[in-house]
Amino acid sequence: MSKYYLAWAKDEEIRKKGANGGFVTATLVSALENNFIDAALVVAKKSVYEGIPVLTSDPEVVKECAGSLHGAPINLTKYVVDYAAKKRIGLPTKPCDARGIIEQAKRRQVNLDNIFMIGLNCGGTLHPLRMREMAADFYELDPDSVVKEEIKEGKIFLVSEEEGGEEKEKWIKIDELEQKGYGRRDACKSCVTKIPTSADLACGNWGVPQGEKKTFVEVLTEKGEAILKNAIDSGYVDIEEAPGKGIEMRKKIEAGMQKLATSWKERMDEVSTLSRSGRFEFYVDALKNCIHCGACKEVCPVCACEADSKCLDMNDERDSYAISMYNMLRIFHLMDSCIHCGQCEDVCPVDIPLTLIQRRFSERMQRHLGYIPGMDVKEKPPLYETELRWSAEAE
Ligand SMILES: Cc1cc2nc3c(=O)[nH]c(=O)nc-3n(C[C@H](O)[C@H](O)[C@H](O)COP(=O)(O)OP(=O)(O)OC[C@H]3O[C@@H](n4cnc5c(N)ncnc54)[C@H](O)[C@@H]3O)c2cc1C
Repeated sequence: MSKYYLAWAKDEEIRKKGANGGFVTATLVSALENNFIDAALVVAKKSVYEGIPVLTSDPEVVKECAGSLHGAPINLTKYVVDYAAKKRIGLPTKPCDARGIIEQAKRRQVNLDNIFMIGLNCGGTLHPLRMREMAADFYELDPDSVVKEEIKEGKIFLVSEEEGGEEKEKWIKIDELEQKGYGRRDACKSCVTKIPTSADLACGNWGVPQGEKKTFVEVLTEKGEAILKNAIDSGYVDIEEAPGKGIEMRKKIEAGMQKLATSWKERMDEVSTLSRSGRFEFYVDALKNCIHCGACKEVCPVCACEADSKCLDMNDERDSYAISMYNMLRIFHLMDSCIHCGQCEDVCPVDIPLTLIQRRFSERMQRHLGYIPGMDVKEKPPLYETELRWSAEAE
């Protein structure tokens, strides 16, 4: 049974730097300082278009990484796989991060007992390169002058630093940008998992009374309860019960966002409008440019194969198949596990619309199997079982 709180960092600096109440940062800092976890995995801002994952045991580094980066669409799953074998780690998880970690746990690649997932609600991320184009084309800004970004009240705000150091803020409605092909990534627009219910906590701004610098926190597991208690007992965090109105508001916004995502999904599924032969041609045309670099497999948060697995070798340039065996294998491989996060499409050097292709195959299979990957750790993956990776016997 979930519990709902409004929470905030007691340290004013953390609270000020935090996206909302600085709760996530304060909780990670207190967990490190009290030896509750061995390391935190956070995202460091390089620019508004780049965030990089940082694994650290230094609370000062965690503090520097407070805030939300919408132009950093990374998935953190793969970064915890090796670490969490032996040590305890705490990290912020968007719904796709939490879902990736749960799928890896089901495939026995991580020890979930060692992982504290401080979930972040997520309305979506932006692709860094598209974001730069958006800044130039729609905001009429030099992309390199943009120093801050924020999403609130259905608008994307960009703040540029002008000559002389003066800051200028401009905003455009997300709807307007997305009608023109900008705004959030396709995977995010069509994602219906907005609250990370498979994490230990789910944190966000939905449900926070207007103007208050607090984080709305849903406690989802005993581990979530324990890390929260540690943060309160050590004096890092204050909480109060979330008002009923806020809980209702959060549910309402989530439902509205899910409805919008469903309508985007339908609109983006251009393949469905094609004839049977048209669909075949679509796939051949889209996949024929694949250079078999393996980047899609490398970043895939649910791929649990060994690094030297041979699926790339399935492609043989001498074959005359319309679609390479590597592509076929990946489509089949992800049938039960694809969480539609779009990481594969982000890194594809030849711009194959992999989100759409993987979704078309896996979503129907998942519906058929009645299985939603990354949501319930007790539910076994339908298609296979793998070796335990993290135990002493596996070494
Ligand atoms: C891309 C994105 C979209 C979001 N959309 C919504 C939304 O629509 N509705 C809502 O209620 N809440 C949303 N949130 C959550 C919200 O912005 C805050 O993160 C949350 O309320 C916690 O606030 P805080 O002050 O306690 O966190 P902080 O103390 O500021 O800590 C935030 C932590 O998140 C990490 N982080 C920053 N960017 C990323 C990233 N891209 N991926 C993973 N970790 C990251 C930081 O390194 C830091 O450790 C979103 C967050 C992100 C990152």
